[in-house]
Amino acid sequence: MKKLTAEACLWPHVVRVLEQERPENVISKTVFAVFCGSVDEGEFCGLACEHDIVRHPSWIFADLTEHRPLLAVTPQTGVQRALAVMDEHRLDVLAVLEGQKFIGALTRQSILEALLAREKTLLDESGRLRGQLACEHEKTKDWAEKLSHLYEASRSLLGVLAYTSLKVDLLQTGIEVLAKLLEVRYGAIGILDRAGALEHFIYTGISPEQAEQIGHLPEGRGLLGAVIKDNVSLRLDDMSQDPRNVGFPPHHPAMKSLLAVPISLSGRVYGRIYLCDKVSGETFTQVEEDIALSFAHSLSLVLDNAREVEEVKRARQRLDYLAHFDPLTGLPNRTLLNDRVTQALTHARRMQTRVGLVFLDLDNFKLINDTLSHALGDELLKVVAGRLTTCIREEDTAARLGGDEFVVMLANLGHGQAAAQVAEKILKALETPVTIAAHEIFISTSIGISIYPDHAQQTDDLLAAADAAMYHAKKQGKNNYQFFTAEMNAEAKAYIKLEKHLRRALERDELALHYQPQIELESGRVIGMEALLRWNNSELGMIAPFDFIPLAEETGLIVPIGAWVLQAACVQAAKWRQSGYSLKIAVNLSSRQFLCGGDDLLTTVLQALEYSGLPPQMLELEITESILMQHLETTLAILEQLKAQGISISIDDFGTGYSSLSYLKRFSIDTLKIDKSFINDIATDANDKAIVAAVIAMAQQLNLKVVAEGVENREQSAFLRGLGCHSVQGYYFSKPLSVELAAVFLQDHRQEDE
Ligand code: C2E
Ligand code: MG
Ligand code: MG
Repeated sequence: MKKLTAEACLWPHVVRVLEQERPENVISKTVFAVFCGSVDEGEFCGLACEHDIVRHPSWIFADLTEHRPLLAVTPQTGVQRALAVMDEHRLDVLAVLEGQKFIGALTRQSILEALLAREKTLLDESGRLRGQLACEHEKTKDWAEKLSHLYEASRSLLGVLAYTSLKVDLLQTGIEVLAKLLEVRYGAIGILDRAGALEHFIYTGISPEQAEQIGHLPEGRGLLGAVIKDNVSLRLDDMSQDPRNVGFPPHHPAMKSLLAVPISLSGRVYGRIYLCDKVSGETFTQVEEDIALSFAHSLSLVLDNAREVEEVKRARQRLDYLAHFDPLTGLPNRTLLNDRVTQALTHARRMQTRVGLVFLDLDNFKLINDTLSHALGDELLKVVAGRLTTCIREEDTAARLGGDEFVVMLANLGHGQAAAQVAEKILKALETPVTIAAHEIFISTSIGISIYPDHAQQTDDLLAAADAAMYHAKKQGKNNYQFFTAEMNAEAKAYIKLEKHLRRALERDELALHYQPQIELESGRVIGMEALLRWNNSELGMIAPFDFIPLAEETGLIVPIGAWVLQAACVQAAKWRQSGYSLKIAVNLSSRQFLCGGDDLLTTVLQALEYSGLPPQMLELEITESILMQHLETTLAILEQLKAQGISISIDDFGTGYSSLSYLKRFSIDTLKIDKSFINDIATDANDKAIVAAVIAMAQQLNLKVVAEGVENREQSAFLRGLGCHSVQGYYFSKPLSVELAAVFLQDHRQEDE
């Protein structure tokens, strides 16, 4: 505060007088300023006051001033200083001079009065300030109240979030609270989806009818687009003046002022809030912008939280889905199937009804998967799943257990036979070939059926029974269905055990080859040997090829086993050759070996030949008609490569497949092996005889060699010889022999030959 100076404290009752004048009628408290010459222009001589005059009533002013020093202060002298001068010189009055010029006089009273006046001003000022403060306080209180509302609103947002998963509810509450708080006519919240498109648009201040008229959501161009794009607030007194403004859509009420803030958190923009036109007509203030921003921040926290909750929820739903459904086909998985079966059993127990389980395993699926591609295999499974669902009622469940295994649960069955009808329906539904990526794929399935309460009481047992029946169906030649029987259980168990052992057969050296001689009928010479696989397991005993080769094929074990057979057979043939026998060695191939990529087979064959030193001309590979027909082009290409090496090819079990004789022309085949089933009754059955005769005639025309398989007696042999059959193989000549016995056989026949 500025100090109080002399000029601010001048005594108002000063009378200018000339020095020669004599005081008369002195008014109390008057101070006389004495001049010589002129009261206005003259020289200031000093001051005289009432007190002096009373003491010297006859003196003129010159006398009254003459004997005292002329003391004075400048107008700028502080009052403290002036008072000090007066005290020091015992003065009642003190002159104030600017240079020589008289300005006025100070008295104690004038100083005091000035001080008081100043005090009053200060008090007034402080009073005014206090008043102002009080007013500010009111305002602050008002804001505080609004802020607390805002806080309440945020809290209620959180509350809403806790009670409803509907984000829209939350936003509606939010915008209404904010619009009321800031007293605006119109407010809206736009929320973006993950891709940045407007997902929710929540407004207040526009009637639903009006909103409907406007019709579409704001596109986020123009001003509001800028809020999102640049993550900035906008506070405009008149939107129409902003160059970014693109105008309102049709039917949109006109609005002038705008306050728009982004709803963002850590740089991630969730949307925007905007408010238009205050009810009072005023423009938006910085404080209001701060409030809107603070609100947007609260909202962003809530949205961020909501989005997180949503993500967690979605992830949980996904996990839940994965726990119960097969993601590939969308069918229930094993877990859900188990649940449903258990439920159905409970119900059936109460209602005295039946429950059927239809267990499917696609035939040759592994083959398809390995040959074509896994992606294609997946597609196929989807098609199968689709077809399955068309075969069942709503109350039934089709589930995928994994791989190519499906189970259909038939709830509330009246009688078991109904399950057979479903099985037939399924077989039929799968009959139509599936076309995927230009491949026409033929599928079939083996089906096992178990019925509660006939076959089992509990879910697991019922499932195991259906599985066992399915194994049996496979063994029956696939593409059929079988009801469970008690024997099947043992059979299925044995099958599983077999698989376990087969996996170790190679490393444990349990496999061996036996050789069955092939005899040229004309000369009676041994012209070849067929290598036939034997498996001697210490626990299971001697296992016949028919019992383990399908398993080896299914499990893929046939590939390493087949490679072993090829090598062992070639090594043996090379040994015989060294011993002077000119024998072709015939080796059986399974379709799986062709399908693991033909290169592998070719490499395996060539390696076996190289390792053994056997000339390719001494090797004959036996394939069945079905191998030939299954993958025509691939197989043809591989066969041609094998043929190019000098290896011969024969068709095994000829007559049992779907062969048409015409395709034989396409393949460069060397030998047809007529299946044993045609030979069995050849001497008595006219049909068989006719077929065999036709095959032999045709083979001669195509320049193919014919081997008759399974010749068991002299009669059959004689008959075949009569038909001009080139060679034979069968028990009549020899059973398949171990290496040692084969040596003996060869020895015997060499003697015969020689
Ligand atoms: P296959 O190639 O048709 O072999 C002929 C089967 O008929 C052999 O059965 C043989 O012992 C049997 N057999 C021969 N002559 C007679 C006869 O006069 N009467 C009767 N009742 N049977 C006769 P095996 O050794 O049990 O082999 C069965 C099948 O297993 C073979 O049929 C062949 O398809 C398959 N197989 C054998 N070894 C292998 C192999 O190394 N690899 C592959 N992929 N399959 C093999
Ligand atoms: Mg064979
Ligand atoms: Mg055969």
